Amino acid sequence: RLHVTGLTRAFGGQPVVDDLSLTIAAGQVTCLLGPSGCGKSTTLRMIAGVEPLDNGRVVIDGRVVADQGLHLPPEARSVGLMFQDFALFPHMTVAQNVGFGLRDARDYKARRVDALLERVNLTGFGPKHPHQLSGGEQQRVALARALAPRPRVMLMDEPFSGLDNRLRDGIRDTTLEVLKDEGTAVLLVTHEPDEALRMGDEIALMRAGRIVQRGSPYNVYNAPVDRAAAAFFSDIN
Ligand code: ATP
Ligand code: MG
Repeated sequence: RLHVTGLTRAFGGQPVVDDLSLTIAAGQVTCLLGPSGCGKSTTLRMIAGVEPLDNGRVVIDGRVVADQGLHLPPEARSVGLMFQDFALFPHMTVAQNVGFGLRDARDYKARRVDALLERVNLTGFGPKHPHQLSGGEQQRVALARALAPRPRVMLMDEPFSGLDNRLRDGIRDTTLEVLKDEGTAVLLVTHEPDEALRMGDEIALMRAGRIVQRGSPYNVYNAPVDRAAAAFFSDIN
């Protein structure tokens, strides 16, 4: 479970994330949707611990990982990260990429890596190198790598935007299935309304550093909070 309260960050006196609060239950997906520059990535980066926060608190499964005076490093937060440009290590095999964050003994690690590769339908791909894989296969390796340490929260910043349409649907489905199975709380950033409607249990509409509407996809689509929100969804059918 992810619980965020009063998250705030300013750059040069300009607030970019402004008193933002958000809760995501285990196994639930919240899609954070909003125009370019509204603060989506900054929000994710603060939760992940790669960006300091000016104010607020981040709690993961009941444990405070950040507030005034406390800043746990990303690897101590039980968060998984998947960003669009989060490249695999090119000099490592697929198996080494997936096992990179694991501290376990070698045989346990090898079994965990095999299980993860099977989970993302890449059984037998372990010895290959990233350049031998298609974009979609690389994306699934990145997913397996992010899942390897069993994070309680998965933070995804437009993870599917580099993929062509043909691949995207399959990878979205695989990703959702795996994360639901693991009971991970998911915060997925996108600026594509159809992706949010399709993947979210809940949608949070963000504008100028604040969440202006939250609800089920059905509610947000059918009862947009204002004209701008309505316009956002108007070009999908
Ligand atoms: P996009 O949809 O284009 O990815 P976003 O909602 O993810 O946009 P952010 O990356 O969170 O937007 O950026 C929000 C605002 O904060 C932007 O105006 C950006 O220029 C500014 N910003 C982000 N990081 C910094 C920084 N390190 N220093 C100064 N300004 C920053
Ligand atoms: Mg962004």
